[in-house]
Amino acid sequence: MSTIFDKILGGEIPCHKVYEDDHVFAFLDIGPLSTGHTLVIPKERKAKLHELSDDASAAIGRVLPRLARAVMKVSGCEDYNILQNNGARAHQAVFHVHFHIIPKPNEASGLGIRWPAGSLDGTAGAALAQSLRDALA
Ligand code: AMP
Repeated sequence: MSTIFDKILGGEIPCHKVYEDDHVFAFLDIGPLSTGHTLVIPKERKAKLHELSDDASAAIGRVLPRLARAVMKVSGCEDYNILQNNGARAHQAVFHVHFHIIPKPNEASGLGIRWPAGSLDGTAGAALAQSLRDALA
């Protein structure tokens, strides 16, 4: 399914471009949580992170810290969040993989986070980690 980010990649709708290479495109978020809020997307059209190819993932990983440094320099912010939502329940609105770089200048702006931490039971944790290792094998 085509998304608004395909239209940006195709030049059909405008954006404030920040960076482009063969695999990656970055532009300013139209609804910034703080000044400098930037979106980094693969050119590969996939909705969720786990669907990305190794090449597209590596290309994003290579450039993300460099983009974060530019956002820090220009926003003057030492603190920032990288946010990457997958699925509507997880607050994804545009179904094309994207990483947000969101400067956190103060409590009032930037990303607000609710963090309802539980506690990890030792036995359940051991079983869960084993299941995950099995899933990776
Ligand atoms: P998410 O909730 O992670 O899917 O975030 C989607 C983001 O895309 C939001 O922060 C929007 O403000 C942003 N967005 C949607 N349309 C555009 C657009 N045309 N140009 C720039 N950013 C956009």
